[in-house]
Amino acid sequence: MTSNARRFDAVVVGGGHNGLTCAAYLAAAGLSVCIAERRGVVGGAAVTEEFHPGFRNSTASYTVSLLDPQVIRDLKLAGHGLVIRERPFSNFLPLPDGDYLKVGGGLAATQAAVGKFSQRDADALPAYYAMLERVASVLRGMLGATPPNFGAGTARDVVSLVEVIKTAKGFRALALPERRDLLDLFTKSAGEILDRWFESAPIKAAFGFDAVVGNFASPYTPGSAYVLLHHVFGEVNGKRGQWGHAVGGMGAITQAMAAECTARGVVIRTGSAVARVLVKAKRAAGVELESGEVIEAARVVANVNPKLLFQRMVAPEHVPEDFRARIDGYRCGSGTFRMNVALSSLPSFTALPGATAQMHHASGIIMAPSLAYMERAYFDARTHGWSREPIVEMLIPSTVDDSLAPAGKHVASLFCQHVHPDLPAVLPGQTWDDVREEVADLMIATVDRFAPGFGASVLGRRILSPLDLEREFGLVGGDIFHGALSLDQLFSARPVLGHADYRMPVAGLYLCGAGAHPGGGVTGIPGRNAAREIVKDARRRRH
Ligand SMILES: Cc1cc2nc3c(=O)[nH]c(=O)nc-3n(C[C@H](O)[C@H](O)[C@H](O)COP(=O)(O)OP(=O)(O)OC[C@H]3O[C@@H](n4cnc5c(N)ncnc54)[C@H](O)[C@@H]3O)c2cc1C
Repeated sequence: MTSNARRFDAVVVGGGHNGLTCAAYLAAAGLSVCIAERRGVVGGAAVTEEFHPGFRNSTASYTVSLLDPQVIRDLKLAGHGLVIRERPFSNFLPLPDGDYLKVGGGLAATQAAVGKFSQRDADALPAYYAMLERVASVLRGMLGATPPNFGAGTARDVVSLVEVIKTAKGFRALALPERRDLLDLFTKSAGEILDRWFESAPIKAAFGFDAVVGNFASPYTPGSAYVLLHHVFGEVNGKRGQWGHAVGGMGAITQAMAAECTARGVVIRTGSAVARVLVKAKRAAGVELESGEVIEAARVVANVNPKLLFQRMVAPEHVPEDFRARIDGYRCGSGTFRMNVALSSLPSFTALPGATAQMHHASGIIMAPSLAYMERAYFDARTHGWSREPIVEMLIPSTVDDSLAPAGKHVASLFCQHVHPDLPAVLPGQTWDDVREEVADLMIATVDRFAPGFGASVLGRRILSPLDLEREFGLVGGDIFHGALSLDQLFSARPVLGHADYRMPVAGLYLCGAGAHPGGGVTGIPGRNAAREIVKDARRRRH
């Protein structure tokens, strides 16, 4: 163990976008901060890397909407070169019968597209969007607040009560039917809600896709409606509900954050894997790296998945037994399989032929025609290990960003669900390393069914199975959100009841990543909220 002479006010474990955000706010409050990141590049799941000679793309997360506008402003991300472009169309769904649905381009255009399948559904769209927006606005009001920390102890429970009253403000502004919508979206299945609103399959699939992204579940699993809601609270350049592309890929966001951190004096150390959190006199006192080097600090702020933190980095004797048991039971595991492919040409879809760039090439292309298809994909993955008819979303960012691929060529992100996060549990003796190439071929073949010739256009590919996501980024069970977004793991219960205020059960230890409220996605919000609580404690010299 070798000690680094400098002692920091805070050491951040992990340089994901939340770790960077937290560090930037802490530095702005005058704290000296060091970030220790295991990989050779900061950004965590929001990075851009070359995956085939001359072809770059966002490696894991690939599309932006949830990034908090205040974080964009406070961290001066535009000043550091961040440009976010809106998608011209939200979604394109090629259908197996050769038809297609386009969603986006304005309400009238979407209504006309949906009207081909059901006039009743087209007529229902404005009310559906309005309902979703009303509930999303209540959710927005809750994101930036520290959740009520029930059960933490008398003094904090009083603070929690005040927080509840504040949070409830948005709720109280709703009329009774709207409160019922909110309850439905927080508790029911997306399928149940969508079946009530719509009768035609394609529009239900377009909306229902958000309910299964990163959520190893059927769209008919209770609680999946919340995952759908979690995907609609964002905005792009002030336009609510939109998704967009960060020019240069998602790494442009985190490189801009890192630039602001550096400007504020944060020390960023890459290639610095943390082995354990040091605890002295019952207080977090720094970290020991895998190299044996010690970084001393007055407090430790963890950007990593809470399971990783408490199962591998904090010695069990420092944590109450019940808390440890709850962390062991904290559910992690997305059913996602992520690929990047380098393409010699754009795909030509049977439903809308043509390999010269058109609007639909620049949208989120969803290959999953119905909720029933998605449900089958889930059950198939549960029993077979992966769905033999998977759900594939494809984005081709090079259609809106020519910095990613050589002229005339393209890169595509394939985000595929459902695969079993714990393969050996279904196929004893097999791991994702044994089947990743076979499953990658299946994903390509799935796109090929809708766009013949796609497979032949693939020049190179990078595959991330759930196991790869865990090994590469520390995403336990490949969980893209650092833990399932289910009601029992949200708000006051994230990650564990009594510790939703970013303070962990060791004094001076905090959680600032997606395992804290309000959960996953490239938002920057857990990082910002955690920094606020840490600064409060630093000023009052408590925790
Ligand atoms: C495949 C995929 C697709 C996604 N798509 C989207 C999307 O399109 N849009 C969106 O908004 N969200 C998306 N998400 C979710 C989003 O990317 C994550 O929820 C978010 O990036 C989490 O950020 P974070 O900073 O909390 O944690 P992370 O990004 O996970 O960062 C944690 C950091 O800790 C580091 N670390 C791990 N172990 C150690 C150690 N021992 N020592 C030091 N450092 C360590 C990791 O290397 C990493 O840099 C996606 C995620 C994945 C995986």
